Amino acid sequence: MKRRTAEPYKIKAVEPLKMLNYEERKRALKEAGYNTFLINSEDVYIDLLTDSGTTAMSDRQWGALMTGDEAYAGSKSWFTLENAVREIYGYKYVIPTHQGRGAENLLSQMKIKEGDYVPGNMYFTTTRAHQELNGATFVDVIIDEAHDSLLDYPFKGNIDLTKLEKLIHEVGAEKIPYVCTAVTVNLAGGQPVSMQNLKEVYDLCQKYHIDVMYDATRCVENAFFIQEREEGYENKSIKDILKEMFTYSDGCTMSGKKDCLVNIGGFLAMNDEDLYTRARELVVLYEGMPSYGGLAGRDMEAMAQGIYESVDDHYIQHRIHQVRYLGEQLIDAGIPVVKPIGGHAVFLDAKQFLPHLKHEELPAQSLAASLYLDSGVRSMERGIVSGGRNKVTGENNKPKLELVRLTIPRRVYTNNHMDVVADSVIHLYEKREQITGLEMTYEPPTLRFFNARFKPLAVNGELIGSEASSTTT
Ligand SMILES: *Cc1c(COP(=O)(O)O)cnc(C)c1O
Repeated sequence: MKRRTAEPYKIKAVEPLKMLNYEERKRALKEAGYNTFLINSEDVYIDLLTDSGTTAMSDRQWGALMTGDEAYAGSKSWFTLENAVREIYGYKYVIPTHQGRGAENLLSQMKIKEGDYVPGNMYFTTTRAHQELNGATFVDVIIDEAHDSLLDYPFKGNIDLTKLEKLIHEVGAEKIPYVCTAVTVNLAGGQPVSMQNLKEVYDLCQKYHIDVMYDATRCVENAFFIQEREEGYENKSIKDILKEMFTYSDGCTMSGKKDCLVNIGGFLAMNDEDLYTRARELVVLYEGMPSYGGLAGRDMEAMAQGIYESVDDHYIQHRIHQVRYLGEQLIDAGIPVVKPIGGHAVFLDAKQFLPHLKHEELPAQSLAASLYLDSGVRSMERGIVSGGRNKVTGENNKPKLELVRLTIPRRVYTNNHMDVVADSVIHLYEKREQITGLEMTYEPPTLRFFNARFKPLAVNGELIGSEASSTTT
C-alpha cells in the first residue's frame, strides 16, 4: 500500500472563500471581458493566476512583523535579513530592494554597456526588459530540449555550453558583462538546472573572466530537483545543496515574492566589494537607503524568517509534490500537459486540448475562461495573446506553445483544492468539442494580455455550447 502524506503545516487562521454559482460566474466572466486578469479576486474560488506574492506566511513570520525596526538608518531588521542571506545563500554582500525587478534594474545598470550581450537560459520578462533597456542584446543559450513541451528530460533548464562558448567566440568575452542563469526557469515551465551544469558554466566563465549572476527567484525549488534527480545529492539536505549551487556564481537577483515566502520584497547579492560599493550608491536613487531598499523593517523581518523556513526539506518536498499531485491526476486522465511537471505550475497544452480551434481563435484564452466558468478556478493564458504582435509587421506573434498555466501559491491551498481543480479540468476535457474560440474586442497597445477584452465566437454568444451543467454549481 502506498502511504499518503499531508501538508506539513496546520491551519491557524482561515480566509473564507466566496463561492459564486454558475450564473454568477457567467456574469462575472462577461463583465471581465473573458480575461482572467480582469476578474475580481473576490469572485474567484481557487486562484491559480500566479505564485508571486501570494504565499501564506507562517505564525513565526506574522510574529516577526511585530519586531520590525522601522529606523531610517541602521535598522536592526536589516541586519537580520543580511545575516539570513549570508547564512543560507553564502554571498558576502546584500542590497535590499522592493522586489525582484528592483534588483534587476540595479544589476543591469551597473554591469551593462551599450552593445553588450547577456546570455541566459530562456528569458524572464522583467529581467530581459532591464537588460535591453541598458543597451544589451539578450541571447538564449538554453538547451534545445527546453523548447519541446512533451519531452521528459530531468534538467530542461540547463545551459548549452556549446551555444555559450560559440557566443563568447563570436562577440568576445569583453562584450559579455555576465551570464544570467535562472534557477529554475520560469518560462520553460519551472524546469531545473543540474548542479553539474551550474558548475560547468561557472568553470567556463572563469576561463573567460565572465561573471555568473543567478536569477535565484526559485532557487529552493531547483535545489529540490537536484536532490531528487542528480546522482550524489539524494542524501544531502536542501540547505547544503543550495549552498553549493551558489558557490558557482558571483551574485544573484532575488524576488522574495516566490521562494522567500513573503508577499513583497527582494534583494541583490554579490561577492565583489567594488560592485557592492557601487550598488550602495545606486540603491539610494531607486529604492531607498542600503539598510532598507524600499522595504519596511517588518518586511525584512518576515523575509529573513521566510528564508530560513524555505530550506526546510519537508516544506519544499510538499510544495513540489502538491504541484505534481495536481499534474499527475491530469496526466492519468489523458489530458495534454507540459512534461515533466515543473516546480511551481502545471501547464495545459491548449492546442492539443482544443484541436478544433484555430490558433487565431485563441485556444488558451478560451480554455482559461472556460475553467473559470466551470468552477471558479482562475488560471493564466500563456500563448498567442501574451505573445503580442511583431513590432515591425504588426502580425500576431505565434508562439510555439499555447498554454494555460495553473500556478500553485505556496502553503495556501490543500490537496483537496487540487482535486477540485483536477475534476474541473477533466470535466471540461470530456466536453471539449463544445468549447468555442474567442475574438478580441479591445486590444491595448502594450502587454495586451493584462487588459484585453474578448467575446465568444459562437452565434449564440455562449462560451461553452448547449447546456453547460457544471461540476460545482
Ligand atoms: C517573479 C520573477 C521575477 C521578478 O520578480 P518581481 O518580484 O516580480 O519583480 C524575476 N525572475 C523570475 C524567474 C520570476 O519568477
